[in-house]
Amino acid sequence: MRIGVAGINGRVGSVLIEAIRQRGDQLTGGFDRPGAGRQAPAPDITLFHSLEELAAVSDVVVDFTVAAAVTAHSNAISRHRAAWVLGTTGLSEAAQLGVVQAARHVPVVQAANFSPGVTLVLDLAARLAAALPPEDYDAEIVDMHHRQKLDAPSGTALAIGNAVAAARGTTLAAVRDSGRDGVTSARATGAIGFASLRGGQVVGEHTVLFTASDEQIGLTHRAFDRRTFAAGAIRAAHWAHGRPPGLYSMRDVLGLR
Ligand code: NAD
Repeated sequence: MRIGVAGINGRVGSVLIEAIRQRGDQLTGGFDRPGAGRQAPAPDITLFHSLEELAAVSDVVVDFTVAAAVTAHSNAISRHRAAWVLGTTGLSEAAQLGVVQAARHVPVVQAANFSPGVTLVLDLAARLAAALPPEDYDAEIVDMHHRQKLDAPSGTALAIGNAVAAARGTTLAAVRDSGRDGVTSARATGAIGFASLRGGQVVGEHTVLFTASDEQIGLTHRAFDRRTFAAGAIRAAHWAHGRPPGLYSMRDVLGLR
C-alpha cells in the first residue's frame, strides 16, 4: 500500500517512516510545514510541496501535524481519493467540521490516540462511569506529556472525558472543569475535572480516577514509545484503504463495535 506522511519531520512522523517500511508498505513521501529550510528527513524520501501532491500519489495519508493546519488539509484531502488517518489533536470546532466534510468524500480514521491500549481504556472508563454514580464518585482525569506539547488537556484526556460524560448521560461541555487555580468554589457534583502536567520528554500518560468518600478506582495508561501510535496508525491505514467514505474511529479499526 502507498502511504504518505504529513508532519514527516515531527516526533510521530519520524517513527512512522520506520513503521511503514517495516510493514513492507511503500512510503510515497512526506509533507511538512511549508517554508524555507524544511528538508526531507532522508535523501531517499520525497518531500512534497503540498498535501495535495502527496495525496495524489498515496492510497492513504497519515497526518500528525498541528491543529492550525487541519482545515487546509481537510480541503486538500477532499479533492483526491486517498484515505486520511488523522492523529492531530487540539482541533477547533471549525476544524472538526472540516474533518466531517472531508469524510463525505474519503474514508477518514480520526483518533486522539492510536494506541490499542488507550482505545480499550476509553471503553473501560465508560463502563466504570456507567456503574459508579456521579453523586458518589468524582471523576478526575490527569495527563502528563513532554514539555513541547501545544494543547491541554490532551486530546486523549478529552476523549476519556467524553467517554465518561456520555456513559453518564451528559456531555463533556456541560460538566467539564479544567484549569483550577486560586480560590475555586467547591467541586460541583457530576463535574469531570482535568489536570495537565508537562515536563521532560514524557511520551504520554493518562489516568482517570473515580473517587468516593470511602474508595478510589484508577485506570492508568502509559505510552513508553511513540511506536505504539505509529503502529496503530498504520493498522488504521490498512483498515481504511478501500472503505467507503465516512468518519471512523480506532474502535471501528479494532472491531469494538
Ligand atoms: P511535532 O511538533 O513533533 O510534529 C509536528 C510536525 O508537523 C512538525 O514536523 C511540524 O514541522 C509539522 N507541521 C507544523 N505545521 C505544519 C503545517 N502547517 N503543515 C504541515 N506540517 C506542519 O508533534 P508530534 O509530537 O509529532 O505530534 C503531532 C500531532 O499529533 C499533535 O497534535 C499531537 O498532539 C498529536 N499526537 C497524536 C497522537 C495520536 O495517537 N493520535 C499521538 C501523539 C501525538
